[in-house]
Amino acid sequence: MTTAAHRTTFDSLNPRTGDVVATYPVHTADDVALAVARAREAADWWVEIGFEGRKEQLNRWKGVITRRINQLAQIVHDETGKPHGDALLEAVLGIDHLAWAASHARKVLGTRRVSPGLIMANQAATLRYHPLGVVGVIGPWNYPVFTPMGSIAYALAAGNAVVFKPSEYTPGVGAWLASTFEEAVGRPVLQVVTGLGPTGAALCTSGVNKVAFTGSTATGKRVMAACAETLTPVVIEAGGKDAFIVDADADLDAAADAAAWGSFANAGQTCVGVERIYVHKDVYDPFLEKLVAKALSLTANDSDDAQIGPITMPSQLGIIKRHIDDAIARGGRAVVGGPDAVGERWVQPTVLVDVPEDSVAVTEETFGPTVTVARVDSMDDAVEKANATRYALAATVFSKRHGVEIADRVRSGMAAVNGIITFAGVPTLPFGGVGESGFGRIHGPDGLREFTYAKSITRQRMKPLLALTTFARTKTAESQLTQLMTLLHGRGGTIDPK
Ligand code: NAD
Repeated sequence: MTTAAHRTTFDSLNPRTGDVVATYPVHTADDVALAVARAREAADWWVEIGFEGRKEQLNRWKGVITRRINQLAQIVHDETGKPHGDALLEAVLGIDHLAWAASHARKVLGTRRVSPGLIMANQAATLRYHPLGVVGVIGPWNYPVFTPMGSIAYALAAGNAVVFKPSEYTPGVGAWLASTFEEAVGRPVLQVVTGLGPTGAALCTSGVNKVAFTGSTATGKRVMAACAETLTPVVIEAGGKDAFIVDADADLDAAADAAAWGSFANAGQTCVGVERIYVHKDVYDPFLEKLVAKALSLTANDSDDAQIGPITMPSQLGIIKRHIDDAIARGGRAVVGGPDAVGERWVQPTVLVDVPEDSVAVTEETFGPTVTVARVDSMDDAVEKANATRYALAATVFSKRHGVEIADRVRSGMAAVNGIITFAGVPTLPFGGVGESGFGRIHGPDGLREFTYAKSITRQRMKPLLALTTFARTKTAESQLTQLMTLLHGRGGTIDPK
């Protein structure tokens, strides 16, 4: 959204060089209110055109994004510092989710008849899902396309208008998404407001009908508190401390490769990234050797073909350093990297072993290219340690025979077996966490329903057999009801008289 006079602006910086990428307005509470009012007007049209109309419009937007995918990847690269190929990959996933949401909204949310049951057999019962109105989306910087698209695409496909507040580290990505939408659709059904925390806070209290927040757990709590004032519902997609479990029968080459990607890709700045590895004692040594070899083959630097980019948010460098220092001060060892791995902008891959389970390197989200590796006696031990966290976002398990069984025992919203972060690329699967990783779901049918309210309608088809909800109800009707209930539900749990 661009409005006339803005008192202040802020710069989006390239984390590889510190150069200014572009300058954006700090939108005030008044600007946010204006965007929400415009969105509310546009929402009327958006609802009116129905599922098919919205699908057509969203597919048009999808076409524009896809044809200019390299331009989008370049902005992501410039603003986050991540390799161009990684930026491309996240844009691809974002497009795939947009396509899925657009083409499945009618099937998931359209009117359907449901069985009225025996007691209400004279009624026709229908269920449909109505859009909420205007959804406020607040996004992070680490996956500035894929992450907000999980809310934006699903909220739009469900019939809502969206006001999006991207992270102050990636405003250009948000502005690009809104301008391509404007070009494809020509109405302010998706708008962007830019700014820092206060702009996001203003969106929470602007009268939007739901807030979809993705970011840190601490900010998620503030968002929820602000929304509580007006009983505005929220989806919270927050931080994680994901575990990676290696069973004795795992393919160790594949496991080490996946663990390295999960821990170090995007410089470890991934909500569903790997932060803790638990390895069965029988394969601990060979697994660690393979992981170390992988880690040593990677460097974070500013060359164009670097596999690991810089730390996007400079303040994170101190947190990463504190976690490594704490691990080492408490008896841990760095078998790759260590305290010196933390530079001015780049952090080199770091593998920590023998770290006590109550070190902050194990208990708090590090959000850097570091990982702890611990030996476990059994898969029970691995599951217990994986679950000893206040976070519960995702998990990975490598096991030939028991992967799904182990994955199911880990308390997390998602899990990948013998692969890494694979669930995020399956649009039909809901995405979200438990505990301090948040609640609510984006993606899949649950992600569409998240941005709607259920509307239940009963229509009387014929007079009821038993007239019960009238002051003319008879004793006979009551006793017939009792008989019917005994017939239907009276069999279970009878007590043996002897
Ligand atoms: P953050 O919490 O600092 O910021 C997220 C967004 O909230 C930004 O747009 C910011 O401007 C805004 N904000 C800040 N204060 C606000 C306030 N008081 N009210 C409303 N909005 C406010 O998070 P971040 O550093 O941008 O992102 C990294 C975090 O996001 C990590 O913890 C990561 O795990 C998490 N994350 C989670 C998921 C997920 O799906 N669960 C996905 C990506 C990132």
